Amino acid sequence: MKKTISSYLPELIALRHDLHRHPELGFEETRTARIIADRLHDMGVEVHTGWAKTGVIGVLRAGTTERTIALRADMDALPIREKGEVDHASVREGLMHACGHDGHLAMLLGAARYLAKTRRFDGTVVFVFQPAEEGGGGARLLVEEGLFDRFPIEAVYGMHNRSGLEAGAFALRTGPVMAATDNFEIVIRGLGTHAALPHTGTDPIIVGAEVVTALQTIVSREISALDHAVISVTLFQSGTTWNVIPDAAVLRGCTRMQTPEVREQIKGAMERVVAGVCGAHGAEHTFEYLPGYPPTVNTEREAAIAAEAARAVAGPGRVQTEVPPLMASEDFSYFLENVPGCYVFIGNGFHTMSHRSDYDFNDDIIGPGVEFWVRIVELELGG
Ligand SMILES: [Zn+2]
Ligand SMILES: [Zn+2]
Repeated sequence: MKKTISSYLPELIALRHDLHRHPELGFEETRTARIIADRLHDMGVEVHTGWAKTGVIGVLRAGTTERTIALRADMDALPIREKGEVDHASVREGLMHACGHDGHLAMLLGAARYLAKTRRFDGTVVFVFQPAEEGGGGARLLVEEGLFDRFPIEAVYGMHNRSGLEAGAFALRTGPVMAATDNFEIVIRGLGTHAALPHTGTDPIIVGAEVVTALQTIVSREISALDHAVISVTLFQSGTTWNVIPDAAVLRGCTRMQTPEVREQIKGAMERVVAGVCGAHGAEHTFEYLPGYPPTVNTEREAAIAAEAARAVAGPGRVQTEVPPLMASEDFSYFLENVPGCYVFIGNGFHTMSHRSDYDFNDDIIGPGVEFWVRIVELELGG
């Protein structure tokens, strides 16, 4: 297996560099989609385009069973101006693959090529090339368009490179691995008045200040210390001058948490605290809670399979199975709300961090990444 995969590497690296030179934002990945579709077609993989606008689905069958699993790679780049001085630097001003999705595409295409050639499995592999991970919610759109109705997917796997983890090592965990991220907006309406006569109005700044402080007691006094959660007020706008108490104050911010239960708990507590503090001071308010990506929660069976595949690739000493969850988020969570699965990290080494202008995907991990995907298929669908 390793030898065959090694023979693909020059071509996969060239492909990765080509994708890196031509980054495209979420739902605009038309060139990327065309390249993926062409490559899959050449391998003899059934191709479905136009899913979630620019997504591409490849379907590969072998043997006779109905068992179906999905492997996912994300396609989009970021609106960052590349500072790195690599030969394959972006030729599109202000856009770059700063999260390594170019590498994810190369790894999944490498696996498709190997699996299409060898077909040492019994069932169906669905290759999901998903647009718009970076905030666009491409995964949610795929679910809404019926990905799981059209293809009877029983388990789904995702892999993301991770800077700060040894190149080619793997890290994963059962249960929550990435956080949910939601936004909120609170508008407090008081009664503006002369700053010298505060008793004739209702000061929304005083009320807002108490709301900010009271919100901090939710995580510290209502959420278990063993759960991870953050509430951050990141905007507080009110007033126009020195001597006028304004009519209103606007607060905005975001929340992060690891489980759907804590998410509901935080949302309910925020509503209660905001209403209580505003009511105590006779101010009116509106509270809007804007759900973003749900938490990414790996299931036990699939995490065990991913760990076994990772150990076969990297050796047992280079696979962490109890990696601490991250407070960043990921739209792979929408797939995991529908079917069991596992999201794993592959180490990208230590030279930089993702979402930075000097980031680059590490070509040395393409081989291990391809092998990981192949081993997942051979473990899930029999060899
Ligand atoms: Zn990213
Ligand atoms: Zn990413």
